[in-house]
Amino acid sequence: MLVNASEMLTKAKAGHYAVGHFNTNNLEWTKAILQTAEEMKSPVIIGVSEGAAKYMTGFKVVADMVKAMDKALGITVPVALHLDHGSYEGAKACIDAGFTSIMFDGSHYGIEENVEKTKELVALAHEKGLSIEAEVGSIGGEEDGVIGAGEVADPEECKMIADLGVDFLAAGIGNIHGKYPANWKGLDFVALDKIQAKTGTLPLVLHGGTGIPADMIAKAIDLGVSKINVNTECQLSFAEATRKYIEAGKDLEGKGFDPRKLLAPGVDAIKATVREKIELFGSAGKA
Ligand SMILES: [Zn+2]
Repeated sequence: MLVNASEMLTKAKAGHYAVGHFNTNNLEWTKAILQTAEEMKSPVIIGVSEGAAKYMTGFKVVADMVKAMDKALGITVPVALHLDHGSYEGAKACIDAGFTSIMFDGSHYGIEENVEKTKELVALAHEKGLSIEAEVGSIGGEEDGVIGAGEVADPEECKMIADLGVDFLAAGIGNIHGKYPANWKGLDFVALDKIQAKTGTLPLVLHGGTGIPADMIAKAIDLGVSKINVNTECQLSFAEATRKYIEAGKDLEGKGFDPRKLLAPGVDAIKATVREKIELFGSAGKA
């Protein structure tokens, strides 16, 4: 069932668990995420970056695929289709394409421009029943070719954006997209505590969920994080399983080259990763 992400995240915040946001890249990813969420009776957010949407030939194609697959698989758990790190134009396009949730990432603008654009998109999204995530303090690492330094958000700026009526807020606390370097200092819990003190019951979002140790995840949830984004980890598990299949020469045996066989170990690996994260985030059985 496609819904916006507002209610599932409000419940998560009140219930002290987090809902996983898993990025999709194609049909296989989407199917693996939907089936695993259903098996675990967990609410789920399917995230799509603008780059991944372009790869899949457009926002409308993504929205139609996710909706049709959700229906065809008889999914009963709440599923939100969410634009990840949307530009101003991309966010508007997704409202029209049939997404149920958007993120507007205005963190690279000055705070005044971020406020102005977020405010406008909050009105547009809410008018159509979508939920909206905004961002303060850029997330480190690389996403779709944009490299961020991993800032720590200013709690006052977080409050300014929260007061615009956004449904959930991504605030940088030293988290990074992609793999974490060996010398990473960890999440800034002092900053997270201050941000939550300013934003109250607003669900907070932790980007860069790949490779954050379980104890840090638990502490982040304890301090108000209700949505955790996972992208790279599914890609790594898919690639590793596919590599093993090919290195074992299985694509050369019989009809092992058939994409339904060739991609199957990768899909199973994504499912295992999604399952592990849902357990870690505590959202199993919460649908
Ligand atoms: Zn992100």
